Amino acid sequence: LSLISSYYIICYIKKDKWDMELRHLITQIIEDNKSELIGFLSDLIRIPSVNLGEPNTGNEQAVQTFIASYLEKMGLDVAMKAYDEKRQRPNVLAHWHGKGGGESLLINAHADVVPINDPEKWTHEPFGGIVSEGRIWGRGAADDKQGIAAMVFAVKALQKAGVKLKGDVILLSSVGEESNEGGTLGAGRAMADELNKPTFAIVTESTGGTDLDIEGPSLFFFELIVNGKAVHIGDRNMAIYPQPRSIPCGNECGADALQKTLPILQMLYQKERDWALNWRDSIVGCGGLKTFDKKGVGVYSINICNIEGGTYLGSIPGKVRILGSVFHPQDYSSTDIFKQLKQHVLAVASTDSWLVSHPPQMQLLKNCHYWQGYKVLPDHPGVKAAERAYQNATGKPLNISGFKAVCDATYLQRVGIPSVVFGAGESGFGVHGVDESCSIELILRTCKFLASMILEWCNADK
Ligand SMILES: [Zn+2]
Repeated sequence: LSLISSYYIICYIKKDKWDMELRHLITQIIEDNKSELIGFLSDLIRIPSVNLGEPNTGNEQAVQTFIASYLEKMGLDVAMKAYDEKRQRPNVLAHWHGKGGGESLLINAHADVVPINDPEKWTHEPFGGIVSEGRIWGRGAADDKQGIAAMVFAVKALQKAGVKLKGDVILLSSVGEESNEGGTLGAGRAMADELNKPTFAIVTESTGGTDLDIEGPSLFFFELIVNGKAVHIGDRNMAIYPQPRSIPCGNECGADALQKTLPILQMLYQKERDWALNWRDSIVGCGGLKTFDKKGVGVYSINICNIEGGTYLGSIPGKVRILGSVFHPQDYSSTDIFKQLKQHVLAVASTDSWLVSHPPQMQLLKNCHYWQGYKVLPDHPGVKAAERAYQNATGKPLNISGFKAVCDATYLQRVGIPSVVFGAGESGFGVHGVDESCSIELILRTCKFLASMILEWCNADK
């Protein structure tokens, strides 16, 4: 062995030992700060930041002011960026500046929460931030305030450990996610005028604290109206059964809009199955990349969200209105998929003489109801760094998977920031429903992962 190579071997061992000691120290700090972290999350839940789900209905100002002052006390460079008309819905953008020369990482969580629909059904006060059974309870516990708490305490732990980074860390607590305003006044808008865009982003929506979701489907909503002809219920027999010659019947008397809608609904359910069986995907399917050989059935679906119909108690239904949602692969345009569905609806209608002369009206609901999917490739250096970071933080491999919904990763990607999703919330624990809660163990795991990811990506100085 030459002198030079022994020097490098010693350096390598030292570096490795340093890495392990630092990781151990950071994990220990996060564990030690557990009650402070959960207290902070409780405080966030206790400041209701309800967004009714339509544009211009978010009420994020109070919680954002609270978060901004917390981040300022940590010594971060904090900016409030509001793009709504009244300037009452600020995004909080906090920079932790590195010395330069490293990659920069954005961590984004949204501060708005969905409303409480059935308060009497909640076991714990919806805005109480109560801790019980190893979980924290309340609206926003999972979606998405766990993410704000995890990212803030990840940076705090690194600061306490004395870590100096080369690249910048940017924490973004954004507004208007639940109302699809990420592109107009939320996360994407806030990053659009940043001069030095971060080279990778993690959006902390719920992925069970186990999955890194590197892509998601596109989503659109549609409205379908089927018009019939309302007549007195006493004339129903004439409207639906043939009658002797010279007695009016069928369309001359009336047309039951609900009955005419049924074959269309059946076709839509059939189409959904057809998609599920054909659009199988190794990432946006069940299981993620670990089940690569067994491509799962994807999230692609047609959901009939709402049916309204009928005219009057004493008449046969004159009109039916249906609202539906469609998740489809992002490689197809929503306009094309919608056109295809409309053709299918008209094909069904072509078998009914009433519907031929009164064709169903179908329209794409645009504006706040359309989301493009997002995508980062599995071999992107950010994904590789996340895999190392998760392994280092938890001792387990990270599952690479697909997001089962839509989020602000869409709008961050649109302004040129490769974005993936990882967060502590799990499906089935009241997200957008009753008794929302989040596992405290998973919040700590997310915090450890984020700290580890910052070390990996922003190149800590040794
Ligand atoms: Zn969310």
